[in-house]
Amino acid sequence: MSGLQTFDPDDLYCAHCHAPAAGMCAGCGALCCADCVELRMGWTRQRAVCRLCLADEPARPSARRWRPWALGLVAAGLAWVAWLWAA
Ligand SMILES: [Zn+2]
Ligand SMILES: [Zn+2]
Repeated sequence: MSGLQTFDPDDLYCAHCHAPAAGMCAGCGALCCADCVELRMGWTRQRAVCRLCLADEPARPSARRWRPWALGLVAAGLAWVAWLWAA
């Protein structure tokens, strides 16, 4: 094995442009460089999503997740107001 130049599997490249990868896409797990991902704000942390996953996502994917949470907040607010009036 001496003198043999082998491919180093630890040297990871972006699946889209073959630049050195910065991390994995939160959607599909593909290795991506910083130029090929877009940061999306999540509830607890930012998600780095690649171009392909951005294209697959609906225009406003956060709205669907946001709505039940907002309804719960409104319901809690109404319950609080009702409790204030009842007290
Ligand atoms: Zn890239
Ligand atoms: Zn992806």
